[in-house]
Amino acid sequence: MLSSGKQTILAALAISSLFAASCSPGKSSSASIKDSVNTTTADSVKAVTTVARLKNINYIPNELGKVMVLEYHLIGYPEDRWRRTPENFRKDLQMLYDNDFYPVSVLDIAYGNLNVPAGKTPFAITLDDSSAGQFRYIEKNGQLVVDPNCALGIMEDFKKKHSDFPITATFYVLPAIKPTLRLFAQPEYKKQKLEWLVQNGYEIGSHNWYHSMLSKLSDAGVQEHLSMFVKEIREFLPDYEVKTMALPLGMHAKNRALEVSGEFEGTKYNHQAVLLVGSVSSVSPYSKDFNRLAIQRVQAGEHTENPETFMKSQIKHKTRFVSDGDPKTISAPEKLKDQLRPGLEKKYNVKWIKEEAELARK
Ligand SMILES: [Zn+2]
Repeated sequence: MLSSGKQTILAALAISSLFAASCSPGKSSSASIKDSVNTTTADSVKAVTTVARLKNINYIPNELGKVMVLEYHLIGYPEDRWRRTPENFRKDLQMLYDNDFYPVSVLDIAYGNLNVPAGKTPFAITLDDSSAGQFRYIEKNGQLVVDPNCALGIMEDFKKKHSDFPITATFYVLPAIKPTLRLFAQPEYKKQKLEWLVQNGYEIGSHNWYHSMLSKLSDAGVQEHLSMFVKEIREFLPDYEVKTMALPLGMHAKNRALEVSGEFEGTKYNHQAVLLVGSVSSVSPYSKDFNRLAIQRVQAGEHTENPETFMKSQIKHKTRFVSDGDPKTISAPEKLKDQLRPGLEKKYNVKWIKEEAELARK
């Protein structure tokens, strides 16, 4: 799973100076934001500003801000660089909930299809390598149940307790690797687990046939490994369309077009999004710099470049994506005008929030 390449990517990060005190708005202000923007429907900059002042909101919409795609590996004990304990996984969800994040799918981010309540910040959860700690069945009173301490059990429990936080996730699974990582490591339940995930709104993504580094494969090899993933998954889910792929170890194919689509012995693949190993937040899907075929991720854990540190930095520097609550409108500070991807004005209403408006809310 790990490589010196991955370590090198991590070591190359230099983001230490950004992180200082948090000024998290917390839950009470999020309720006000939701109320206020819903009543105005963000009809004009003036309306948003006025309401923001009345409700003493700490921020205004910024849909050109950063979003996080969280990346998890093992869930279990003890906590280490590539393993999150069940307690810490729960803690992460709570932190996101308490700080006005809102779960969306990888595909929603890829296509900027963000139906997110006003004042909230979209984020996505991804889990790589399909170990048992992500999805484990256990027997309880003679019945098969999802282990409440595996990632899936924790997410489902959290979702039940927080109806305003519709958790979803993408599992980047491995169908043909060693048994401990093969489709959640309980061979008797492979089909049952994959079906459960799809039926309950989770996504199965490609982490390829058995975690091969695409950079080391020929063009034919890349197509074989990505097609064989599709073929193996379809043995359990005959009609399933694999839509996204996370690059094993973040290593690109020599021919990057083959990461997206290709064919091997009659089986085709066509990925709508490709995820990096990454260690930084993604730019907004509405940014001119966004590329759905190279989406950055943030690795969860106790290290310094974790979701909490990115969150604090983004709150402090006002660089976080903050929804205006209207999926058809992109609202952002006017000073970010040059960041908008050209052409989006045709698809969305675009509202620029003037500098004075920003000043007025202080
Ligand atoms: Zn992996």
